[in-house]
Amino acid sequence: MELFLTENQTDDMRLSVRTTRVLHHEQTAYQELVIVETPQWGRLMALDGFFQTCDRDEFVYHEMGAHVPLLTHPDPKRVLIVGGGDGGMAREVARHPGVEHVDLVEIDGRVIECCKTYFPQIAVALSGNPKVHVHVADGIQWVREHEAEYDVVIIDSSEPIGPGEGLFTADFYASVYRCLTGDGILVAQTESPWVNADVIRRAYRGIRQSFPITRLYTCAVPTYPTGLWSFTLGSKKYDPLEADPEARIAALGRLRYYTPDIHFAAFQLPGFVAEIVAEAEEEGR
Ligand code: SAM
Repeated sequence: MELFLTENQTDDMRLSVRTTRVLHHEQTAYQELVIVETPQWGRLMALDGFFQTCDRDEFVYHEMGAHVPLLTHPDPKRVLIVGGGDGGMAREVARHPGVEHVDLVEIDGRVIECCKTYFPQIAVALSGNPKVHVHVADGIQWVREHEAEYDVVIIDSSEPIGPGEGLFTADFYASVYRCLTGDGILVAQTESPWVNADVIRRAYRGIRQSFPITRLYTCAVPTYPTGLWSFTLGSKKYDPLEADPEARIAALGRLRYYTPDIHFAAFQLPGFVAEIVAEAEEEGR
């Protein structure tokens, strides 16, 4: 019998991946967690039916989520990751020699434990790395309780449902602004321009209400809805289009997606995506 794991990307669109084994399946205190073995994408984790990470393409999302803000800020030392329980974002952040302290705040401890077991390459920085401090807590509360402490904050959240819903609001982005230092940078994953334009407009508008520099960038993640994914960056001072990633990239070792050219190209938006941003800017006036 053929086994496929299917993600309902929209009511009218699904993505199914052939699955050879269900490695883990549980209902945690927050969400349904499934980890499967697939012949084409390696191991893959889904939360509440949404694909979160898989061995074969996770580097795209994690490299673009980490290196764009960290090579835009001239000297980031303290970084906060909200969500990111699979550990991939922490792995990329910890590559930066100048980064001294990383707090990873994940609401669901079961995600961390399962990823350590089933995705050791992705979760490598979650145990034994002196820079990385893992906390099982709600990121919304954590951000409220920390003032002017971080140079970079990365929101590596799941979808805007359940525990992740509050991570896409203007109030949350305003509290992130307060927990950043005077020249801090925020990056948030903001879903797909093809099927989540409403999420992008809301998040972009919310970030722009607090941050003088707000920009959207994209990357290609095959197992995410439509394969085209977005991040929204909010910055108090440094513009990613004026960054000099070439100067510091050598220290990061081998990268498989992010390059200095990709850094700038990612902000060059196709017309229909630029229109979504323009609508958000218009609505926010
Ligand atoms: N890259 C994935 C994506 O874009 O869909 C996200 C991966 S990461 C596993 C997402 C994590 O965010 C989940 O483990 C989820 O438990 C966590 N999360 C959701 N809401 C949260 C909150 N309020 N505070 C902290 N972590 C949260």
